[in-house]
Amino acid sequence: MILVVNAGSSSIKFRLFNDLDKSNPIDILDGLAERITIDGAVSFKYEGKKYEYNVELPNHEVAIKFILDKLIELNIISNVDDINAVGFRVVHGGTISKSSIIDQKVFDTIKDAVKLAPLHNPGAITAIEAIEKVMPKAKLVACFDTAYHQTLAEEQYLYAVPYSWYKEHGVRKYGFHGISYQYIAEKMSEVLAKPKDQLNLIVCHLGNGASITCIKNGKSFDTTMGLTPLAGVMMGTRSGDIDPSIIEYMCKELQLDVSKITNILNKESGLLGLSGKSSDMRDVTGGYFKGDEDYKRALNKYTQVAADYIIRFANLLGHNIDGIVFTAGVGENSIHTRQFILEKLPLLDIEIDNTKNEESYGDYKYISSPNSKIKVLAVRTNEELMICKDTINLTK
Ligand code: ADP
Repeated sequence: MILVVNAGSSSIKFRLFNDLDKSNPIDILDGLAERITIDGAVSFKYEGKKYEYNVELPNHEVAIKFILDKLIELNIISNVDDINAVGFRVVHGGTISKSSIIDQKVFDTIKDAVKLAPLHNPGAITAIEAIEKVMPKAKLVACFDTAYHQTLAEEQYLYAVPYSWYKEHGVRKYGFHGISYQYIAEKMSEVLAKPKDQLNLIVCHLGNGASITCIKNGKSFDTTMGLTPLAGVMMGTRSGDIDPSIIEYMCKELQLDVSKITNILNKESGLLGLSGKSSDMRDVTGGYFKGDEDYKRALNKYTQVAADYIIRFANLLGHNIDGIVFTAGVGENSIHTRQFILEKLPLLDIEIDNTKNEESYGDYKYISSPNSKIKVLAVRTNEELMICKDTINLTK
């Protein structure tokens, strides 16, 4: 069996896959350990039943031990060695270009990238160290959100700053959500029956964190996030692109240091910042239709920025766009966010089928009409399955 782990500083999302059929792993259990170091709670779903525990979780190691003990107690595994490999989601892998077995060199690179992803990488590091202790025989694999974007063109990844910043300090666009983009590229190759290396897509991964990627010939060609996941489109609580001078200006105005302002850009901006009320798209669209001016302002800006990037990426692909894809929490579910973004793209001659846009669906659906010049789809992403497949491929 394969365990997939997505760990933050106080939470561990985990999924267990049965890999008897290596080419078709099946997820059998989906869970969350949360409030680690605060108090602690573990929950998971298995065979349609929900299991919930309130338990003191002083650190990640205790959380992982607790989870494994429960799996044994419930006869889901007979012992820890039933899990032969663990795949970790790691947000920042520096310039590592593919999923990798975690050896000392890979582990050091993940540690080095903490300065580039201080909010994200420490959780993964703590989880890797904990699993190494609790499951010493398991093979460990890291899958990086940055890896898929290592194919960005130089003119896309460079910033117009002194070149020595790139050469000596690694200042470049890295891009994120790559595990999701890789999954979507593979899924779209199946859906459109077109080889992946011939696919040209614009993929909008709109979740709490959000980014858009231009995929050319199956590879990431440009993407909205940058050195860190703060750049690009507007998000739930992150600002996306702003004039960099705002930072110094607001430091002075509010008498705060740079890290405080950066924290506001990460946690109190975006939908939350502009509405002053909520970062959750369900609240925003709900409020919009009740005529709430704060939510209207936030949604108008959110959909305009996304449309602006789509048109930029359409220009990179020219007349060869195989599809525009919406994915992640907002992209998969928010009918009106999709509609408003598409309505702001008059140059692309897209025809939305409103009935299809509103219909419930399984893995994917078309939301454009057959007459639309460009196909538009909503596709459910599955980062855990992607991590599981890479883990199987690297360890079999
Ligand atoms: P994360 O980046 O944390 O993985 P998700 O991909 O789960 O985030 O996306 C969370 C976002 O998806 C939230 O803004 C939430 O409001 C939105 N969302 C989830 N379900 C719906 C829905 N049915 N309609 C509109 N928005 C939704």
